[in-house]
Amino acid sequence: MEKVTEYFGSMVFDDRVMKARLPEKIYKSLKETIDKGKPLDASVADSVASAMKDWAIELGATHYTHWFQPLTGLTAEKHDSFITPSPDGRVIMEFSGKELVKGEPDASSFPSGGLRATFEARGYTAWDPTSYAFIKDGTLYIPTAFCSYTGEALDKKVPLLRSMDALNKQALRILKLFGNDKVTVVKTSVGPEQEYFLVPAELYAQRKDLIMSGRTLFGAMPPKGQELEDHYFGSIKQKVSEYMADLDKELWKLGILAKTKHNEVAPAQHELAPIYNTTNIATDHNQLTMEVMQKIAKKHGLVCLLHEKPFAGVNGSGKHNNWSISTDTGVNLLSPGETPHENAQFLLFLAAVIKAVDDYQDLLRLSVATAGNDHRLGANEAPPAVISIFLGDELTSVLDAIETDTPYGGTKKEKMQLGVDVLPKFRKDTTDRNRTSPFAFTGNKFEFRMLGSSNSISCANIHLNAAVAEVLKQFADELEKADDFNIALHELIKRTIKEHKRIIFNGNGYDDAWIAEAEKRGLLNLKTTADAMPKICDKKNVDMLTSHGIFTEAEIYSRCDIMLDNYIKAVNIEALTMIDMARKEIIPAVTKFTADTAASVAAKTSVVSVACKYEKRLITTLSDLTDEMDESASALEGAVAELKNFDNVIKASEFVRDSILPKMDTLRAAADKAETVTAEEYWPFPTYDKLLFGVK
Ligand code: ADP
Ligand code: MG
Repeated sequence: MEKVTEYFGSMVFDDRVMKARLPEKIYKSLKETIDKGKPLDASVADSVASAMKDWAIELGATHYTHWFQPLTGLTAEKHDSFITPSPDGRVIMEFSGKELVKGEPDASSFPSGGLRATFEARGYTAWDPTSYAFIKDGTLYIPTAFCSYTGEALDKKVPLLRSMDALNKQALRILKLFGNDKVTVVKTSVGPEQEYFLVPAELYAQRKDLIMSGRTLFGAMPPKGQELEDHYFGSIKQKVSEYMADLDKELWKLGILAKTKHNEVAPAQHELAPIYNTTNIATDHNQLTMEVMQKIAKKHGLVCLLHEKPFAGVNGSGKHNNWSISTDTGVNLLSPGETPHENAQFLLFLAAVIKAVDDYQDLLRLSVATAGNDHRLGANEAPPAVISIFLGDELTSVLDAIETDTPYGGTKKEKMQLGVDVLPKFRKDTTDRNRTSPFAFTGNKFEFRMLGSSNSISCANIHLNAAVAEVLKQFADELEKADDFNIALHELIKRTIKEHKRIIFNGNGYDDAWIAEAEKRGLLNLKTTADAMPKICDKKNVDMLTSHGIFTEAEIYSRCDIMLDNYIKAVNIEALTMIDMARKEIIPAVTKFTADTAASVAAKTSVVSVACKYEKRLITTLSDLTDEMDESASALEGAVAELKNFDNVIKASEFVRDSILPKMDTLRAAADKAETVTAEEYWPFPTYDKLLFGVK
């Protein structure tokens, strides 16, 4: 057995490789770019390209690709080989700095929401030196940003890098006010916990809905679901365990810090969590993780489902975005400190996050909105579509004490004065972990739990970073002007708590009473993508995002269009698949079973005179359900046809929400009922019990 320590990162052009293979001057210059965001020196590129190529060829690579993240939510790649003809009729392997730094994929087939004028189909990819290149399947992968020729971002990486810059800039202003001159960079880090389902490949292949849409569009609940709570953290089945081991190994080779693996709540549901990393790298790694998960599953005769709601009736899959802010001097700004000074700084950053989440609830909600995730958020499972923050009782009472100028803790008689008093020690909330909160403080980080399992984590972090950067800017503007910093700080935190405490909720987020209470507090409840997405175009959001240079106005409008278009297309494909399955598979199967039952009545009554009450009742039920399915399928067909008439994407998305999705539910209800009364051998595709409990 090879040692993990030996093969970890073996396919990555990481710091260790750079140090060993680059001339010292080049290495130092590249490091400045990677660590401090200094512009890349052009002379460096050729040298890096050459070293990268030699390294890649030694490891068997023949091709390179600029790997990027267009707005499809997936990754894209176009492979070029290193070969260049040589005069002797043979080839040499070449890779120039120019090829490393810039690529020109044909951008016309990627969504641009009108950003790319039709006469200018070109886009370009630009090397992101902050994310290491790696080798996968014989190709050198170079992480890149993807822009239009006029410089607009056409991807998910460019705005993420911009949002990290914005937060860095504002956080440094705040740190300076606290006398922290040593810090030169502030970065956000993320550890995304990834949920997924595994189903047997041969069963998957028999379900058009899984193939076309990634989720089951029909299916009655089996006698057993997740109610016994016997799957969560349960012992892992042999086949799954072999899959997980193989997956870890593959991820480790790619330098991905896969750390934790366990069974999740629903049958056939599992989770993988990496050790956290800089947001930009964590995002690349999560995209890569999702790809590798699917690839390795195939090798094991399995299919990995990343859809947010593959099965009705059991939990769907999400992604927990554990997020923190830290300095290049190694301080986590969301960790309560040891001294009064550090505590005051922590409380300011905490207050900034609270205000950011309250002021930009809409942006956070829409950053995770997709057709798939709409089946989780607000739909009887974790978490609700309403955004709130969980702080835990102890921290909440500290904030209460500050807000009301009352003493904190039983013995201490004096009021808390920030910057002077030490914060009372509050324990990291490990025991009564609140699992229902969309945005939970977990001791030294926030866990944003609304992301869907298939979402790129990029959007959530763009908006989170942007919102926090904006609030830090407001805070810095105010505090920089103050005569007495400590008094101004105290007043600012107090005021922020008073104005934004409505967003704090430590109770059960699944409770209907909370939804009513949230409404009273004036919190937003954006139930669907159609409700949430257009909010990105609200003036307050456009102003904020453009003022920090995260998006241009044109980029915002185009993104809104693209995301709504994705929503409409996803549901449209589902509706068409349902109609197809109902007409070609389910209705014929039920009709056959009905006919065979009728034939049995005829056969029986030709021999003896019996009532055949059971068969007749069954035939009536099946005929009624067949009519219902046929009628609902026709209604759905009508709606899908009508959808073509919309030329306004917002109106079309509302029609999807109000007309198409309810009609899909009606068709499904009739079919699921039919499934429960049809003999198993007649049912045209594998049922839930086989899919959910089929992996041995
Ligand atoms: P759980 O949420 O299951 O209790 P943990 O809180 O230990 O588990 O970690 C969950 C994820 O949070 C992991 O990916 C971990 O690396 C990440 N994480 C831990 N500390 C931080 C941090 N300071 N910033 C960002 N992510 C973190
Ligand atoms: Mg967690």
